[in-house]
Amino acid sequence: MLALAAQNAYERYEVTSVDRTEVLRYLGYSGQPMAEELDARVDGVVARCLEVARPAGVWRVFEVAGREPAEDGRPSVQLKGAKLELIGDSMREHMEGAAAVAVMAVTAGMTVEQELRRLSLTDTVEQCIFDAAGTTTVERAADACEASIVAAAHTAGLFTNFRFSPGYGDMPLDTQPVLLAALDAQRKLGITLSKSLLMTPTKSVTAVIGLFEEPQPTSHASCKDCLCAGFCRIRAAGRPCWA
Ligand code: SF4
Repeated sequence: MLALAAQNAYERYEVTSVDRTEVLRYLGYSGQPMAEELDARVDGVVARCLEVARPAGVWRVFEVAGREPAEDGRPSVQLKGAKLELIGDSMREHMEGAAAVAVMAVTAGMTVEQELRRLSLTDTVEQCIFDAAGTTTVERAADACEASIVAAAHTAGLFTNFRFSPGYGDMPLDTQPVLLAALDAQRKLGITLSKSLLMTPTKSVTAVIGLFEEPQPTSHASCKDCLCAGFCRIRAAGRPCWA
């Protein structure tokens, strides 16, 4: 666990493809007929997004230091060596029994942001498609980051659950400043926060993952349909993360 907690990884990710269905889902399509023009443009815009994106991420593992309620009585999980507190019922449930927590931030890069701004002035249809492609790209980068965390946990004999982001459930969005500071994400990835706690580049994701001594029902329980499969370094070595 000590070796794991000492890691502070910065990584670049190769995202060479995204799921077209996901891009369409972010565009609001779920099987209904799509305008021909839009359909024809999707593949080209996705390819352009993958070309300009510079996916990268940072992650760190912190041991769980305590579970004292927050000052206002909400459940809270404290982390050793970080000011970061994971507050709320969602975190109480997600981190129940966790020995440590991996904290991660990923971004598709400022290049995607710049292209989005350019398209907002020149081609709003393409901007919408590019926006959906950027969201899908950064989620793939998050899958890659999660795969690294799963692999590191596996090496340490630990099991993971899935990533959970501020703003979901009752995990407060105001976790973001401390979370990003714990990763030095502004210096390493160029991620900044607005007063309303929105990240720039907008195609960025933060999350936490629980690390446990026993397999979790929600963990990577099967390689089939695992989002990390395309980035997995464990299976090739012979033993999957859930065995
Ligand atoms: S592909 Fe299999 S071994 Fe790799 S992270 Fe997913 S569940 Fe674990």
